[in-house]
Amino acid sequence: MTDRLRIVLEAELRSPLHILGPGRTVALVDRPVELDAQGYPFIPASTIRGRLRVHLERLLRQMGYPVCTPPAPEQMCPHAGYDGYCLACRVFGSPWRPSGIVNGGLRLAAPGSTSPDLLRSERTSVGINRRLGTAQAERLFSLEAVAAGSGNTGLTFEGEMVGRLTAEEAGWLLAAVPLVAHLGGSKARGLGEVSLRTKEVAWWREGRWQPADVQRLMEEVLDHAPA
Ligand SMILES: [Zn+2]
Repeated sequence: MTDRLRIVLEAELRSPLHILGPGRTVALVDRPVELDAQGYPFIPASTIRGRLRVHLERLLRQMGYPVCTPPAPEQMCPHAGYDGYCLACRVFGSPWRPSGIVNGGLRLAAPGSTSPDLLRSERTSVGINRRLGTAQAERLFSLEAVAAGSGNTGLTFEGEMVGRLTAEEAGWLLAAVPLVAHLGGSKARGLGEVSLRTKEVAWWREGRWQPADVQRLMEEVLDHAPA
């Protein structure tokens, strides 16, 4: 049985964040970050979805479940060599199955009166030749990053996922959430370290949103895994 489900995710930055904004050009910056219409940094839906799926696939494999191997469609369910659809495809979809859940991007939780410009900084980076492992002088570039935050609190982003999942599918999705520790590019440069948390989960039952017990949904699936 599937019920309508709503999940609120919260990402707190542990280091500056760089998610390349493909639509933006900034004078003197080679790699600008993604911004929303108000000029505030945000985490695009595809970034959060991509990371969640990767961690869900890894977790399922570790726990002894069959999982297909995206992105090649011919290696994804239902063509992955076992019956039906794996749990990752049931939650996030495959080329032959609609996704169980959709999500938006994560937006700044409390932009307040902070000027969006104060949230970004530029740094200079050096291109590394991957084959030779050496720095290349001509590949010096400037990279824009979102500041991690001030003091002990990291900058926090929030966003929703909504869809129809079984309790089992929801449990696996929620178990993957805290495994996401990096978002965006330049991980090797120390950027993009985050804590991803589930802030709220609710089922639509009997005509209203009813809060779900996140811990119990996760334990239910982790305790019954074959591995
Ligand atoms: Zn699959």
